[in-house]
Amino acid sequence: MTGKAAVTGEAGEVGEVGEADTAGKVALVTGANKGIGYETARQLGQRGIRVLVGARDEGRGKQAADALAAGGIDAEPLRLDVTDAAGVAEAAARIERRHGRLDILVNNAGVAGGFTGAPSQATADDLRAVYETNVFGVVTVTRAMLPLLRRAPAGRIVNMSSHIGSLALHADPDSPLAGVNMIAYQSSKTALNALTLAYAKELRGTAVKVNAAHPGVVATDINHRRGHRTPAQGAVIAVRLALLDADGPSGASLAEEGPVPW
Ligand code: NAP
Repeated sequence: MTGKAAVTGEAGEVGEVGEADTAGKVALVTGANKGIGYETARQLGQRGIRVLVGARDEGRGKQAADALAAGGIDAEPLRLDVTDAAGVAEAAARIERRHGRLDILVNNAGVAGGFTGAPSQATADDLRAVYETNVFGVVTVTRAMLPLLRRAPAGRIVNMSSHIGSLALHADPDSPLAGVNMIAYQSSKTALNALTLAYAKELRGTAVKVNAAHPGVVATDINHRRGHRTPAQGAVIAVRLALLDADGPSGASLAEEGPVPW
């Protein structure tokens, strides 16, 4: 299946970029048992892609994969706690045995953390608790999965970032983020943006593309369902970046409506 979608390139221009062929592809979505991750898995699966439903809890992963399968999607649960390096290595070995490669990795698993105080009152442990999943988890999963993504004809890595990670928006007193100051979560997404660029630079000249997706403010458990967008809407940009064809950008920061400044 192929199609055309409007995306923005590295230079920020909006253009028509085709979707790579989805036939026979295998995608892993971390934290896919609910929220935006579940919807990303569903929308990829609707295109005939086999989805590995990453979940840290085996029961929740199976339940989500069963629900997707009931909707006609080729879904397979995969136990994956992104903070457990040995478990992630086991998951990569399992993917290699069963599929031989990985076409799409969506680093979606994320936590907000419990710290809500003034930035100067946060401890290193407050930040570490969030970074373990949102930053170090992405490092662990990407490092383990990259050899499998390199084997794919058009490997794609999508990092689920957030407008809240944008330094440019935080620096702008007129931006909607002017009143937001959640040091642990927002700096974890800034770090994720930095990882995105670092991997994209390394992989320039290969078939693997790495981009940051910004889902918008989506009503899910992470924000106690205070969001004006649905998980299905939040998943759209991640799916688009997962399916970029060879002309698509790498090292880009994109929301559905266009580029988000770093
Ligand atoms: P959510 O419904 O709370 O989903 C978070 C998912 O991450 C859950 O499946 C959760 O699993 C999983 N997870 C957490 N820690 C994990 C770990 N150590 N290993 C594996 N999975 C783990 O929230 P969401 O809104 O869909 O969030 C998905 C992503 O979108 C996150 O990266 C978030 O930062 C990002 N995002 C969300 C919004 C928004 O407005 N909602 C905006 C921008 C970006 P459990 O069920 O086991 O906890």
